[in-house]
Amino acid sequence: MALPLSPATRDSIKNLLICFSLANLCFLRRWYDLEHLKERAMDYYRAGPPDGTLMEATLICVLLLTAVFWVGWMWVERKPSPARVKLAQAVFLLACAYPLESVRLYWNQDADHFDVISNVALIALETVLGMGVVLAIMGNPRIVRAARKAALALTLLFPALMIDFGVNHLSAEPAASFAPKPPLPLLPPRAGPPRRVVWIVFDELDQRLVFDLRRPEAAIPELDRLRSESLAATHAIQTAPHTTIALPSLLSGVIYSEVKVESVDGLRVYTPDSRKGMEWRDAPNIFKKAREMGVNAALVGWHHPYCRVFGDALVRCLDVPSEFTTAALSEADATALGLWGTVGSLFERQIQAIDEIVQDNATPTQRSRDVRTQQRQQLQYFQIRDRAYADIADKQLDFVFVHVPAPHPFPLYNRRRGDFTLTPGLDYADNVALVDRTVGEIRKILVQSGLWDSTSLVITSDHGLRPNLWAGRLGWTPELDRLTGGKQSELVPVIVKLAGQERGATYDRQFSNVVCGDLSLAIVSGQLHSVEDVTAWLNQRADKSP
Ligand SMILES: [Zn+2]
Repeated sequence: MALPLSPATRDSIKNLLICFSLANLCFLRRWYDLEHLKERAMDYYRAGPPDGTLMEATLICVLLLTAVFWVGWMWVERKPSPARVKLAQAVFLLACAYPLESVRLYWNQDADHFDVISNVALIALETVLGMGVVLAIMGNPRIVRAARKAALALTLLFPALMIDFGVNHLSAEPAASFAPKPPLPLLPPRAGPPRRVVWIVFDELDQRLVFDLRRPEAAIPELDRLRSESLAATHAIQTAPHTTIALPSLLSGVIYSEVKVESVDGLRVYTPDSRKGMEWRDAPNIFKKAREMGVNAALVGWHHPYCRVFGDALVRCLDVPSEFTTAALSEADATALGLWGTVGSLFERQIQAIDEIVQDNATPTQRSRDVRTQQRQQLQYFQIRDRAYADIADKQLDFVFVHVPAPHPFPLYNRRRGDFTLTPGLDYADNVALVDRTVGEIRKILVQSGLWDSTSLVITSDHGLRPNLWAGRLGWTPELDRLTGGKQSELVPVIVKLAGQERGATYDRQFSNVVCGDLSLAIVSGQLHSVEDVTAWLNQRADKSP
């Protein structure tokens, strides 16, 4: 049955739909993010249930841009001179080509490999549209007509997208599954003299650069002072090159070869000889062992949602989950900015995308993403630091594990000013200085709370600095290029400062820092009292390792 509409009305509706379709395509990068955000694995890095702000803001942006295109078209229709029509046709074709080129660049930044077929297909389509612009100016609107038809057909994408998102929303994890597991009750104090251990993992603290080469140059008086009273290893090896595998390995005391992020609290861990793997929450971990020993253990950690996974093995837990994939960052930013702030920022990002196309490189988008990540990571550092300092000073806690998001790039600290002002030109050395400042503050807190003489410190890192990830990004320098030669060193620091000990020593044998958890428990249980004890304990482990 034909609609009872006049041809003029039908034409207007068609034009409006084309404007809407085009506006929708212009926000293709955000739809791509939103598609990504639907994956169950994304929940693992969320601090809370998915937030709808990004989706709502994207819809508002699409409607606003539709209105802009519509007003433009009205202007042409009111007085359709040949010049105006040609201009409108050229703008229309360029607006069709823009989302194709924009998403092509976005895919290439986001994907781990360059996909030749999709690149060739998109460039071919863009070339056809470019030829259409030339033809339209010469008075031949053939390609314009074809593009109009295609844009009209693509209107159907929108209801399909909405149904897809609606179904996904209905099957989403309930808010309660993002809550931490309830903590254990505090145990009464143990018999005997008080013994505490604070185990700190400074993310990406590189042994070779920071302690062996002492480059890039940063003053580290607190670390030097601590090392002069500690056993400092010179050949401790990381468990894995990345945080996602290294932290589970360190906390389980098992070197995993692979991990798979699966759901809100699901991380599957694999040893080299197990194909099936197991859930990390069911795997052994240092906190379960601590509990069996009557030790009150607490955790303050970055990156993994530790408290959802095994918060029920601790008496206190704070996690700050984070993975800065493009999509997750967009969602987190939207939550922070609110609806209208996000609408503004999404238009700003369109301008960056145009800039990126004109300049023919990804720098504008990548730089803005790095800066947003840097600001977010600095807030996460503060959150972790404040809670860690409170736990470290709490004498009811016998074992405190802290995973600090520094010196992991990007720069969070300004070593020249000695504060947290983020100015251009900061680099890895600034974050190393932040590690030093943090170590100094921890000493001060322990001394002030009267716990310095009963607290041992174990300091390590999850992995060395990763040039493959950071070269060319915010805070990367030619010096880092030269120093690393593009390669990640496997060496991580292991510094063991025993309570009441002031003698320093180095430990030169090679071993994996996967032993740090068991070493901490051996100290807290009173097995190790001197540098010689720790040396003997490490020798035993080094003898056993392959
Ligand atoms: Zn890491």
